[in-house]
Amino acid sequence: MRFSQFGLTTLKEVPADAEIVSHKLMLRAGLIRRLASGLFTWMPLGLRVLRKVEKVVREEMDRAGALELLMPAVQPSELWEESGRWDQYGPLLLRMHDRHEREYCFGPTHEEVITDIARRELRSYKQLPVNFYQIQTKFRDEIRPRFGVMRSREFIMKDAYSFDIDHTGLEASYGRMHDAYSAIFERLGLKFRIVDADSGEIGGSRSQEFHVLADSGEDAIAYCDADDYASNIETAATMAPDADRPVPAAELEKFPTPGVKTIDDLCEMLGITPAQTVKTLIVEGTDGPVALILRGDHELNAVKAQKIPGVASPLTMADNATINKATGSEAGSLGPVGMPLPLFFDHAVAGLADFSCGANEAGFHFKGVNFGRDLPEPETFDLRNVVAGDPTPGGTGTLSIARGIEVGHIFQLGTKYSEAMGATVQAPDGRNQVMEMGCYGIGITRIVGAAIEQNHDDDGIIWPGPLAPFDVVLVPINMHRSDEVRDAAETLYAELTDQGHEVLFDDRDARPGVKFADAELVGIPHRLVISDRNLAAGELEYRHRRDAESRNLKREEALKLLKESSVS
Ligand code: ATP
Ligand code: MG
Repeated sequence: MRFSQFGLTTLKEVPADAEIVSHKLMLRAGLIRRLASGLFTWMPLGLRVLRKVEKVVREEMDRAGALELLMPAVQPSELWEESGRWDQYGPLLLRMHDRHEREYCFGPTHEEVITDIARRELRSYKQLPVNFYQIQTKFRDEIRPRFGVMRSREFIMKDAYSFDIDHTGLEASYGRMHDAYSAIFERLGLKFRIVDADSGEIGGSRSQEFHVLADSGEDAIAYCDADDYASNIETAATMAPDADRPVPAAELEKFPTPGVKTIDDLCEMLGITPAQTVKTLIVEGTDGPVALILRGDHELNAVKAQKIPGVASPLTMADNATINKATGSEAGSLGPVGMPLPLFFDHAVAGLADFSCGANEAGFHFKGVNFGRDLPEPETFDLRNVVAGDPTPGGTGTLSIARGIEVGHIFQLGTKYSEAMGATVQAPDGRNQVMEMGCYGIGITRIVGAAIEQNHDDDGIIWPGPLAPFDVVLVPINMHRSDEVRDAAETLYAELTDQGHEVLFDDRDARPGVKFADAELVGIPHRLVISDRNLAAGELEYRHRRDAESRNLKREEALKLLKESSVS
């Protein structure tokens, strides 16, 4: 590809609305352009990268025996009513009408459509197992689209859906996708981790996520290399402390705390740490408000809390009016002693003695609070986020925390959709049996952003070979003044292209500095510079995007090196 004909515009300035490096670099390198909030055009350079991702994904899905199809993006509401999700899915779902006032949505995912296909097409267990996939545009009306293509509203997903006659079959299909996903992310050259996950909106039982590790990741991952444990922090379990609680040493004392509204204010007044206090959060319960009690230094985990019987799902914090009515007090002065609501204590709270908390009276707190004396012995629950240093559920190691970008998610759905929508096949015994389903997503567009988060430097993108839009950039110096350079560059461009390289030939009449800066920004792995000086010596200047320095190589040596490093 000749740069002069490629229509690529790079930007020097960092776009103001881009918060993270991949978003900035994708705009600066001309991979994408924004249309509106969460909507992006993939420019020719970006589309080349996207197609590379798709190619690897498609090859590994095909290798795993999945069958590609293509479903409509627009889906009729009737199907979503059958599954019960028309009312459940909430504001993420973009709903619309046609001219006959029929209701539709723009698909955020395709369980309903594929289950409809399956119930029509699949008749007998002999047609199973089967796994259908597509690479297709989704829309989710995200509350906060950000980070460019990593959390956009319209995006491309590879979604696959498996159908099996029984749970054993589902586990085998799930295992094949687990292995295919591992192969995909290996091939893309990304550092990733597979973690246990919550099944969220989609429902079902077992689920795992594939995360590209990056400091800017929106998810926190708890892991322990010693016992091979890894989980999204959303679902990472905390254990009840097994060490005995200290013996109470203090008397219960109520004291005035004017102006104390937060745990930090309280700690400052008493000269204690947040771990010696508890905080009380009022949330909606299934039968009126309830109180969740956590150690002052711990964070509430909404995903785990909303699964506890008695706590409403989705977790909803009570508003001030509800808190005042239910407790007779106000947020900032709440505590478990004398609290007139059902109490749910986090495991860690049970390990405290002589702690401090609100007194359920505006402007007052307690200190010296103890279980068994001031409060009954608590029943405890898993309510908080794990923190670094917590024991692993297996008990053999301690947890570390890393940040990750979710690029893939695999679920065992079971019969949630097939049951609701009547997707059955004839079993070997002749009876109709509901199929067991799995579903498997990969964020095709998100992968491009995630790859840049993991592979860049101050000068620009450093594409992993398999994702690079071109593998070689050819930079002639003074081509518009030197016929030798022009001839040599044209010949080399033709030769490399013939050999199957994807070459970006920077034939612009521009200063070398401009060409070099663009080559770095765009991140093409191999750079070859042709100048009068190195031509005279029969050499080319070579530099890999990851190298600090360039080096001169004989023309043949340079070609050999490219051939050997060629990936596709
Ligand atoms: P998240 O937790 O990041 O919102 P999700 O769990 O809702 O994602 P899934 O339903 O598991 O997403 O979708 C499968 C994949 O699609 C995700 O693993 C992710 O890579 C991608 N994806 C989901 N939402 C978006 C989005 N708004 N923009 C880009 N990619 C997305
Ligand atoms: Mg997910």
